[in-house]
Amino acid sequence: MTDLSTSIKHFASLNRAPGATWTDAIKRKAPHKPLLLLAVLDLVHRGGITASFIAVTGDLVELNELFNLYWRRIIPLGQTSSIAFPFSRLDREPFWTLVPQPGTTITPAIINNTSSVTYLRKYALGAKLDKEMFRVMQSGEGREALREALLQSCFSVEAAALLREQSIINREAFDYSRLLEEKSHLPLVKEIVEADNYRPAARDQGFRRIVVKAYDHRCSLCGVRIITPEQHTVVDAAHIVPWSRSQNDDVRNGMALCKLCHWAFDKGMMGVSDSYSVITSRQIATDPNSRLPANPFRPQHNPAIRP
Ligand SMILES: [Zn+2]
Repeated sequence: MTDLSTSIKHFASLNRAPGATWTDAIKRKAPHKPLLLLAVLDLVHRGGITASFIAVTGDLVELNELFNLYWRRIIPLGQTSSIAFPFSRLDREPFWTLVPQPGTTITPAIINNTSSVTYLRKYALGAKLDKEMFRVMQSGEGREALREALLQSCFSVEAAALLREQSIINREAFDYSRLLEEKSHLPLVKEIVEADNYRPAARDQGFRRIVVKAYDHRCSLCGVRIITPEQHTVVDAAHIVPWSRSQNDDVRNGMALCKLCHWAFDKGMMGVSDSYSVITSRQIATDPNSRLPANPFRPQHNPAIRP
C-alpha cells in the first residue's frame, strides 16, 4: 500500500468509544480524536506544526482554538472537552506515539486518567507522528484526503458538511490574516476585503489571529495577560473604530482586550483617544464599586467621555 492509502486507512478506522451522550451526528461515538486531528491538519497548513513531533510543553492556544471551533459546530452547548483528552488517547492509534518526560513511563492507566493539559504535561513532552503520515500531511492534497477520511468515517452527512465548511473558514481566515500582515496599509486592507469577499467568520478569525499575536495575549487597556492551563487566552480582538463604520481590519485598528475591558469598551466606559491613550468615563472614575484593576498604561479621565 502507498503512504497515502495507509494514512487514509488509519484516519478512517479510528478507535472511538461509544457512549449514550453522543448523538447520531457523530455516529454515537466520541468525537474528540477526529476533531483534534482536523485541528492538527489546519495547524500543519498554517506552518504551526513543521516536524513530525507535536510538543505540548509550549503554547497550545492556536491548536486549542481550532479544536474548539470544530467542537462547537457539532457538539451541543454545555459539553466541553480538553484537547488533552484526545491528545493522550490517540496514543492507541498506530500513527501517534506519546513521548514521555525524562524519567517517566506512560502507562495505559495514566492515559485513561488524562483529562487536562496540566496532567498531560506532567508526563508527556508531546506526540510523535508516524513519519509517512506526516509526509502525507505536508501536501494540500494529502491533507484534503485525510480530512475527508475523518469526515466520512466519523460523522453524519450533515455534521460532515458543517465541519467541512469550518475547515474552509479556518483556511480562509489564515489566508486573510497573512494578507493583513503583508499589506497593512489602511486603504489597501479595505480594498482586499471588498475584492475578495471573505466570509465574515473567516474575516473575524483572521483579524483576531493577528491582533492577539501582535499584543501577545495581553489586554491593551489593563495589561492583564492570562492563558489558562487549558490554553484559553483571556483576550478578544476589538476594533478601535468599529468595523461597521470603518470596514478596517488593519492591525493598527485593532486591540486585544480582556473580557472585562471588552465589556467596558463596548459599554462606552473605557475607550481610546485619537492619540491612542486610554480614556475612562467619569462614572468609572467616581464610583468606588466599579474601580478597574491597576492600569500600567495610566488611563486618563477624559471629561469629554460621559456615561
Ligand atoms: Zn483588560
